[in-house]
Amino acid sequence: MAHRPVAEVTAATPSAGTTDEIRRPSALVLGGGLAGIAASARLAEAGWRVTLMEARSTLGGRVFSFRDPRTGRVLDNGQHVIVGACSSLLGFLDTIGARHLWHLQPRLNVAVYDRRQRLGRLYGVGAPVPVHLLPAFLSYPHLTWLDKLKAVRCLVSIMLTRRDRPELEDVTFYDWLLARGQTHRLVSNLWNVLVEGTLNDNIRDVSASMGLMIVQDGLLARSNSANVGYPNAPLMDALINPARAYLDKLGVTVMTGIPVRCVNAGPDGAVQSITVGDGTTMRADAYVSAVPFWTLPNVLPEHFAASTTLHALSRLQTSPIVNIHLRYDRPVMEGDFCYFLDSPLQWVFNSTRIYGHDSDGTTQALSISVSAAWDYVDLPRSDLTRAIADEMLRVFPKARNAALLEAVVVKQPNATFRCTPGANRFRPGPHTESPNLFLAGEWTNTGWPSTMESAVISGYNAADAAMSSIRAASVTEDQRVGPMG
Ligand SMILES: Cc1cc2nc3c(=O)[nH]c(=O)nc-3n(C[C@H](O)[C@H](O)[C@H](O)COP(=O)(O)OP(=O)(O)OC[C@H]3O[C@@H](n4cnc5c(N)ncnc54)[C@H](O)[C@@H]3O)c2cc1C
Repeated sequence: MAHRPVAEVTAATPSAGTTDEIRRPSALVLGGGLAGIAASARLAEAGWRVTLMEARSTLGGRVFSFRDPRTGRVLDNGQHVIVGACSSLLGFLDTIGARHLWHLQPRLNVAVYDRRQRLGRLYGVGAPVPVHLLPAFLSYPHLTWLDKLKAVRCLVSIMLTRRDRPELEDVTFYDWLLARGQTHRLVSNLWNVLVEGTLNDNIRDVSASMGLMIVQDGLLARSNSANVGYPNAPLMDALINPARAYLDKLGVTVMTGIPVRCVNAGPDGAVQSITVGDGTTMRADAYVSAVPFWTLPNVLPEHFAASTTLHALSRLQTSPIVNIHLRYDRPVMEGDFCYFLDSPLQWVFNSTRIYGHDSDGTTQALSISVSAAWDYVDLPRSDLTRAIADEMLRVFPKARNAALLEAVVVKQPNATFRCTPGANRFRPGPHTESPNLFLAGEWTNTGWPSTMESAVISGYNAADAAMSSIRAASVTEDQRVGPMG
């Protein structure tokens, strides 16, 4: 059933009343993370009157930076990384004028160290896919020649596999790889390097379909797909503040510090209004929810929460990320970032260097991003810092002569949803059982794992669904009323 647009204005634009404004459809977007921001932008670009409601005092959701009270430093909640395949996010950065605040490698180049400090590089050369990776494969020291042969055969197999086959959603990527002759060394020294950070999970626990997605779309789709990128400034400066400025320019009404308490629907399932924290009721033609999946059932009416789509959400799980921000009294690391095999550190980013602060003196700030951090998320911060600092001494010889000046631990227990076998089946599209309620959020069915790219795609999908539903409703209404009205 298509919902008929109402002439009512949202509470955020109470003075609107001209004929032009009455004809413009209105939307309330719930949740100001990247998904809600992207949905608001797309609707406003199409001429809708949009109000974006965010519970917290700032936009950004899981993408944020903050000033640490103890050290005075502005730190990210976690190192955010992109790849060349994130075309929607890159396009969004262009749109909001923030592309220059992000570095994207002109060619893939990732330094990978093993426990003996041997350096290997995963890099691309100027050649067609997949030949562009061949030199890296051949020179990679963390595999035997037999492993390399097996890896190349497996890459061909991955290229030939259709990952939308239902059975690939039911097996783990790990089992799928073992069935193709991959050894444990190959899994940990090659495939896991690609999967662990991008899916924020152990390769033994992710579905083959999502593991294949990472390799097919993230590595092999184009020769620049896997080029690594990251912000050159804290996340608020590099993404959220420019996005906010863009929404302001579009005329979106942004309300922060306003939690949505409940969504009110009529007997036909159409949403009639939302009630916010102070009890105010607000109305619009369409409602886009962009809150996390674990919050959604709390704001929806009971009969929605019991619906098939939303019932499935209770099957989705999350995994944690722990970020440790360290500052030494002298440089201990060279290069922008690197990965350590068989080490709790995983990815280490040279924040001083990637923020372009190399010339500012002697100290060096590093950001260590630990994915699938179940072993660390419940540890006391002091124990965690000690464990990480000790490991730093082992892998960075220069750290042995350096003083650790600061250590800030940021724990994000629900950083991402898990791409475990079957999880894709629990991810709904933008439509719901209600004709005027649409879903966004990186956890919706975008085909991507829990990433900023997925959040932006989901916001666009929800906005497009809202626009086509309301357009269809207008056409139906015009036909019913007739050409003379
Ligand atoms: C530490 C960490 C590291 C990460 N690293 C990467 C990375 O390297 N690369 C990458 O691409 N992605 C990364 N991610 C994932 C990425 O940040 C998320 O996938 C993305 O930001 C999710 O966006 P979203 O808008 O869907 O959800 P969210 O960001 O969770 O936004 C939901 C918003 O809804 C609001 N809300 C909730 N309830 C209500 C309510 N009742 N009323 C109003 N508002 C409400 C919340 O406050 C929040 O702002 C990382 C995440 C974390 C935590």
